[in-house]
Amino acid sequence: MKNGFFLCLCTLWFTGAKAQQVDVQHYDIDLTLNDTTNQIEGKVTIAVKYLQNTTRLRIDLAGMNVSGVHADNKLLQYEQGFNALYIKVNAKAGDKGAYTVVYTGIPKDGLFISKNKYGDRTFFTDHWPDRAHQWLPCIDHPSDKATATFTVTAPDHYTVVANGVRVSATNLPGQLKRTVYDEKVPLPIKVMAIAAADFSVTHSGDVGKIPVYSYVFHEDSSHQGYARATNILPYFIQQVGPFQFEKLANIQSKTIFGGMENAGAIFYAENSPEYPGLESLLAHEIAHQWFGDAITETDWRHLWLSEGFATYMTLLYMEHTYGVDTLRASLKEDKAKIIEFTKNRKTPVVDTTVHSNYMQLLNANSYERGGWVLHMLRRKLGDELFWKGIRQYFKDYNGRNASTDDFRKEMEKISGQDLKGFFTQWLYTTAIPKLQVNMSYNENTHAVKLEVIQQQTPLFEFPLEYTLDKSKPVQTILVKDKITTVIIPAVTKPAGIWLDPDTNLLADMSF
Ligand SMILES: [Zn+2]
Repeated sequence: MKNGFFLCLCTLWFTGAKAQQVDVQHYDIDLTLNDTTNQIEGKVTIAVKYLQNTTRLRIDLAGMNVSGVHADNKLLQYEQGFNALYIKVNAKAGDKGAYTVVYTGIPKDGLFISKNKYGDRTFFTDHWPDRAHQWLPCIDHPSDKATATFTVTAPDHYTVVANGVRVSATNLPGQLKRTVYDEKVPLPIKVMAIAAADFSVTHSGDVGKIPVYSYVFHEDSSHQGYARATNILPYFIQQVGPFQFEKLANIQSKTIFGGMENAGAIFYAENSPEYPGLESLLAHEIAHQWFGDAITETDWRHLWLSEGFATYMTLLYMEHTYGVDTLRASLKEDKAKIIEFTKNRKTPVVDTTVHSNYMQLLNANSYERGGWVLHMLRRKLGDELFWKGIRQYFKDYNGRNASTDDFRKEMEKISGQDLKGFFTQWLYTTAIPKLQVNMSYNENTHAVKLEVIQQQTPLFEFPLEYTLDKSKPVQTILVKDKITTVIIPAVTKPAGIWLDPDTNLLADMSF
């Protein structure tokens, strides 16, 4: 996702059910909405496969009043805790079960029932990172992916959209409408989504067999900026692999984020149709469809596999569209953010210190530094191997979960290089290189002496590019020691030195 300008949340966050008792296979979500109260009615059937012998099945759920739980038409005993529903079961590892939870309640979070900026009533789920269980019984953790069916009954003036294919929309007595969507691709809960609002819907075009839609509030129907998705989608399909979802709907919403990468049903902030940076916002969320949605990080600590990838894939799309100077300008901006961020937060990109309040991971480590790591990896391997590795990673982990090590091994397999050192220093180390560079010219020997001092701990190993003459190709020094000295022949004293002229090194350099 992309942070909005007005992110403000004061809710407590709770860790999802991590001790995996079950692997959810499918959610059958039946939700009834109305125009008179904010009370929702839910009937959710969760089909599971047991991973261990279980007598007390824990399902994440907070703030809802459960009126019954049944399986195979039999009522089951249950207890409701503050943050979970516990169902009495008698299951062995390998068993399958399907549990229907019937409940009502007014969601405090995870499903916003509110007015949009035009005063129209709207319903938007907003699950990231683990807020779905504030209205939906589920295993609220990215490691558990499942297919889903969404059946939404709402007053008939609403247009309902969710992940997957729209199966039906049926008018019911009492000016109600029942809309059913079916998602056949296993998704983590964080990118499952439902919206109901008075949308103006446009079919922006098809990319191959993928229909692309724009859902905007009817007052904003003249804004067609989301249609640019039809230009962005082909780039990622060509570079990474097939788009996995049945459609791509770009939806104006009440998400607290600038954009939220719900699979095939991306939510954007309600002011987004007028954003000057809409193209890169679209590219970021569309890139997530591969990185975050199709491949999902195993746990929050590997969030850069979503956000760092979406950040760099956006820069790659912008480079492809507008040229390499656009890439370099963005990398410079991102580098400044990382340097500033690193002064205050002493945690590496793969951050094992965060066990709740995952919002704090929406930071320059996960986004900009993650993106920079991919940029340096691309330069290290070259474009051909880099893209070959990315494609292979997608092929191997599509529909599954991946960790940082999984990604490293894929890139090692493709390149034949040992990348442990590279990954350790850039992703598991807090510092970035802080360099003092000194240059002197000896008129007797006609040589430049260049001295590079690493001031941070631990020491890093990296290529430092430089040139003494901008009209000539860049040279490279391999830096790995505390002090690296090189002597460069020069007939006359050079006018200056350009360090990292092509913006390929994440370092804080003083000269
Ligand atoms: Zn993102």
